[in-house]
Amino acid sequence: MKIAVIGNGILGSCCAAWLQRDGHGVVFVDPLGPAEATSFGNAGSLSPSACLPVGMPGMWKKVPGWLLDPLGPLSVRWRYAPVAAPWLLRFLRASGPAEVVRIATALRGLLAPIFECYEPLLQRAGGTGLMRRSGCLYVYSSASVARQWQWGMDLRRSLGVALREVGEEELAALEPDLRGRFRFGLLAAENGSATDPAALTRAIFDRCVTDGAEVVRARATGFRRNGTEVAAVLLEGGREVACDGVVLAGGAWSARLARQLGPSIPLETQRGYHVTVASNNLGLRHTVMAVEHNMMVNPMSMGLRLAGSVEFAGLKAPANLARADVLLARGREMFPHLDTSRTTSWMGHRPCLPDSLPVIGPAPRAGNAWFAFGHGHVGMCGAASTGREVANLVAGRAPEIDLAPFSPLRFG
Ligand SMILES: Cc1cc2nc3c(=O)[nH]c(=O)nc-3n(C[C@H](O)[C@H](O)[C@H](O)COP(=O)(O)OP(=O)(O)OC[C@H]3O[C@@H](n4cnc5c(N)ncnc54)[C@H](O)[C@@H]3O)c2cc1C
Repeated sequence: MKIAVIGNGILGSCCAAWLQRDGHGVVFVDPLGPAEATSFGNAGSLSPSACLPVGMPGMWKKVPGWLLDPLGPLSVRWRYAPVAAPWLLRFLRASGPAEVVRIATALRGLLAPIFECYEPLLQRAGGTGLMRRSGCLYVYSSASVARQWQWGMDLRRSLGVALREVGEEELAALEPDLRGRFRFGLLAAENGSATDPAALTRAIFDRCVTDGAEVVRARATGFRRNGTEVAAVLLEGGREVACDGVVLAGGAWSARLARQLGPSIPLETQRGYHVTVASNNLGLRHTVMAVEHNMMVNPMSMGLRLAGSVEFAGLKAPANLARADVLLARGREMFPHLDTSRTTSWMGHRPCLPDSLPVIGPAPRAGNAWFAFGHGHVGMCGAASTGREVANLVAGRAPEIDLAPFSPLRFG
């Protein structure tokens, strides 16, 4: 079959690579080059442990702060608040303990096979060096502060995540740069990370092209039907790409196309920011999650990346790079000796559903279209296993994980 893959971020690239392994032809449709959108600048963490949703029990108490502090870790721009309100209500409804356990169980299913699903793709792409298995340290100012997050960590453990407590001395021995500021940690030794998320995405995409994938640089606007089947993807400017099937992996921009193939899906963007410190003079070896700062710190090939922040302001508003400055200020607090003379800043659009679960499954109103979008904070983590499941769906094989929680029909 010739499958049109809409979107060439990490999701589209992994879906295409898994489809090619089944012998399908692929045509990428995207106005941008590979990894030029959200997959460019994320924190690169590849974490089987990242199975907790964004909405956690008790979160509703923080809503006033979201509106009042425009530079807080989670903020809603006043002007965008009326647009975001219905989504935020659903998000808060999904943050009760029972829902969180259900969501975390589903996410753990998707994320546990991260490495077994990436490895064949990266081996074929000659890119195994782009993925490191160096572990992640969740760090806290003290063991008593860490107890605030105990419920979530216990939930992770109950789902099979290996987390080892690390005291002050061992923490300083593991990462001397953290000495003094952090006195307690949890080591997720099985976690990994991308040395450069954009390079990892491009490596998989480029290998797909070498293996015969076509590339159409255009925005998809809709579909030409033949009965219940999609016969072609319609492009801006009046052209079309004929195909035998479609995978929609358009990240935060997927909702409009998805609506043509199924019910309305409440996709929202949680805008996130990074600062990459090219002048990095630290010796960090692990990915570091500074839990109290809500910030991921990852040593990458191009520098030290400080990433985080959640901002509700839609797809069109310009970036507020003051939020990236906040990340840099936190980085300086964590590492007073960090050389910050050369930095770059960036904003990207996480594609988010209110329950923090992606949409993976057959399009409800077409016999030959599949959805693979909405991976929120864990798109790098979940892309390769999503690609494997999309290939299973296209082939009519049984899924390897329970896909019911990711159904496009779950929003009614
Ligand atoms: C600050 C930050 C830190 C993050 N850290 C991590 C992390 O550590 N680990 C992790 O797993 N995840 C992380 N994420 C999330 C991760 O980056 C995303 O989930 C992931 O990149 C989404 O990939 P995607 O392929 O779905 O979307 P994108 O990379 O955004 O790609 C979507 C593509 O679809 C194309 N497209 C859209 N509409 C159309 C159309 N109509 N026609 C044709 N093409 C179209 C776009 O042009 C784009 O190229 C982070 C995100 C941010 C912002």
